Amino acid sequence: MHSFELSTRRRCELVDITGSVQEILRKSGVTAGICTVYVPHTTAAVVINENADPSVCADILAALARLVPEDGAYTHTEGNSDAHVKAAVIGSSRTVMVSGGRLALGRWQGIFFCEFDGPRRREVWVEIR
Ligand code: ZN
Repeated sequence: MHSFELSTRRRCELVDITGSVQEILRKSGVTAGICTVYVPHTTAAVVINENADPSVCADILAALARLVPEDGAYTHTEGNSDAHVKAAVIGSSRTVMVSGGRLALGRWQGIFFCEFDGPRRREVWVEIR
């Protein structure tokens, strides 16, 4: 298993990690198979979506904020319940096919680390088979 770290800068933020995952894939020497990207955190997630127009990321974060407000009626006393719920909704992992030594992503797709309770130092685990 491979891993890398990143530092987020805002409370909620989508960070494009496609290049970091592709670099791990390149070093692995695997040319065909499956790449799993996993986030070992309870207030962060990973998603695949458009990396061409940054307004898409802004819209995703804004829509999640409307769906799961920070000041909603929660029982968890840490004050970050919205972050836990957003992480649960988006999910902790994504799987990408590997073809020709490259991540088989669509033309407009990228892999994003989703920060919901930053800024923090975070970790991403990558398994390639
Ligand atoms: Zn919490």
